[in-house]
Amino acid sequence: MAPAGQQATAGPQGASATCTAGPSKTPETGTTTGPIYGRVALIGLGLIAGSMGLAMARRGLAGETVGTARTAATRATAGARGLCDRIVETAAEAVGGADLVVLAVPVGAMGEVAQEIAPHLMPGATVTDVGSVKASVIAQVAPHMPQGVHFVPGHPLAGTEQSGPDAGFDTLFDNRWCLLIDAPGTDAAALDRLRRLWQGMGSQVATMDADHHDLVLAVTSHAPHLIAYTMVGVADDLGRVTDSEVIRYSAAGFRDFTRIAASDPTMWRDVFLHNRDATLEILGRFTEELFALQRAIRTGDGDLLHAYFTRTRAIRRGILEAGQDTAAPDFGRGGVPR
Ligand code: NAP
Repeated sequence: MAPAGQQATAGPQGASATCTAGPSKTPETGTTTGPIYGRVALIGLGLIAGSMGLAMARRGLAGETVGTARTAATRATAGARGLCDRIVETAAEAVGGADLVVLAVPVGAMGEVAQEIAPHLMPGATVTDVGSVKASVIAQVAPHMPQGVHFVPGHPLAGTEQSGPDAGFDTLFDNRWCLLIDAPGTDAAALDRLRRLWQGMGSQVATMDADHHDLVLAVTSHAPHLIAYTMVGVADDLGRVTDSEVIRYSAAGFRDFTRIAASDPTMWRDVFLHNRDATLEILGRFTEELFALQRAIRTGDGDLLHAYFTRTRAIRRGILEAGQDTAAPDFGRGGVPR
């Protein structure tokens, strides 16, 4: 397994995904309808793949969707919920004849799945993934991609703390960003087709370099999740989490931490193990800032605290002005199934 942050190189048979440092490109938006792919294979039928199946069906973006999952129980639930048109037992079977293959399993399982499907991929097909970490996934998957198969990694910035085949819903990606990795050698037509699929599912699409993606996500998602896990753990150590007063009187702060800390343990274990360097870099900076604030509290430095909080308040305003959240007390999550 490749260490996080490792540069992915083209696979031995010419798979094209590589990553280099660089800025993100201009975001593009739009809504596309009508079939974009003849057959889409969804590998893994949890929150993200299930939502993709439903979102594609909503706008008729695929001629046919074929899905598979590791366990019979997940496959049965996915079938009952109609997450895709056809359910098959193995990933190898699912990718046959598919012009788009979506890897939607935990980050640590991507390489194993790529190895399994590689001999069965159709020439000219595009393989993408939805993993929350990009450099490690590229390092795991790219070496298995056969000549003539295009690998375009992706990451929808959409989710809830729920997981599994019951969790998906067709509007999950509406007005959310999807980041696609545009590395040197990436097939432009394959990237453009995938971009149109995500736009059709309701997302805004931006392209980004893998290492830059992993650093940005360490700041915006991975480190905050670790902090939430830690804060809930601290409260648990104090024996107060289940105390009815803590629950009853917890405002958005602690209650939001418990919601985030309820996220899938397998997924988040893999995220931290596979985005190790960027997460540790951000946590190091976080710890330094925490010590500075701790010292300001101890020494009664109100000016420092006030200046700090004034700066962070402006960041929140910027997020609202960019339309990335709402000022509602529940942060706009009222309509999202839980
Ligand atoms: P999920 O709901 O837990 O579904 C995971 C799927 O992967 C299930 O179908 C599961 O099959 C299968 N799976 C688990 N371990 C596997 C293994 N070792 N080998 C093969 N298949 C395995 O997960 P999710 O939330 O959809 O996340 C899927 C991917 O999307 C992850 O890479 C995650 O980082 C990324 N992502 C998640 C979010 C989010 O908020 N949840 C957001 C963006 C991206 P069984 O049920 O049969 O075990």
